[in-house]
Amino acid sequence: MDEIKFGSLTFIQGQRGGKYPFCNSLFIDDREKVIIDPGSGEKVLKKLGMRKEINIIVNSHYHEDHTSFNYLFPEAKLYVPDDEASCFRSLEKLLDFCGLLGTSLEHAWRDILVNNFHYRERIPNLEFRDGDLLNFGDTTLQIIHTPGHTIGHSSFFFPEESVLFMGDLDLTTFGPWYGDRVSDIDQTIASLHKLLTIPAKVFITSHEVGIIKGDITKRVKSYLEIIDQRENTLLAFLEKPRTLDEIVNQWIIYKKPREPREFFEPGERGMIKKHLDRLTKKKIVSIKEDERYLLT
Ligand SMILES: [Zn+2]
Repeated sequence: MDEIKFGSLTFIQGQRGGKYPFCNSLFIDDREKVIIDPGSGEKVLKKLGMRKEINIIVNSHYHEDHTSFNYLFPEAKLYVPDDEASCFRSLEKLLDFCGLLGTSLEHAWRDILVNNFHYRERIPNLEFRDGDLLNFGDTTLQIIHTPGHTIGHSSFFFPEESVLFMGDLDLTTFGPWYGDRVSDIDQTIASLHKLLTIPAKVFITSHEVGIIKGDITKRVKSYLEIIDQRENTLLAFLEKPRTLDEIVNQWIIYKKPREPREFFEPGERGMIKKHLDRLTKKKIVSIKEDERYLLT
């Protein structure tokens, strides 16, 4: 496993190159020993936990791939975004935020979250918000609230090290993800613009890309363009009135049918609905009485 250091920060690459269901983690080796998003892998995190006593877990948001190994550190304090602290306290609330509560997939997802991703209800010790400064010794972390992916999704700026941890605004070729009930496309766009104003020299993402040095303006632009490409593909498909199920079956977001379907369909459906809501608000698309979507 690769370990790259920036002052007191150590980048821990997630298994499978940080691809879902894993993510990249960050370890802060200071007076406090901190892990940001313990989702990189069981083995590497267990090993780290044996070497150093972990005092604090910081989660960027409630998603299962970022919290899956929180359970390895039951004694550590848990720091989470205030807007979604309830998702850490209650599985019910998490399912609600995802938009799965009361759906036919709720049961399957309860099982996935608890058994595959070790979800455990846990009372956060600190609920942080935009602008908060967390001190771990000589290391200071500034909270940058970057909602859109989820409602409380947060990025972390380390001014001393000029490092910005961008979480799931991950600049991958897949593009931004906004499939939960509490996700939002326009907030995602605003958050990416906000990150461009942060004076960082090193950028760390939660998946695949990992570490980027230098200017990220072009990469952010390409990443944002994917939102427009999805919307254009959707508009082209609406040359005829279509039901939501017909649109979801096009797999416009994931580009091809993904299995297991119960796992990927909520994301495809959730993201398509965000686009349809956005286009409806702009009066570009409307819904007919038979619940078909059509261009206005
Ligand atoms: Zn996420």
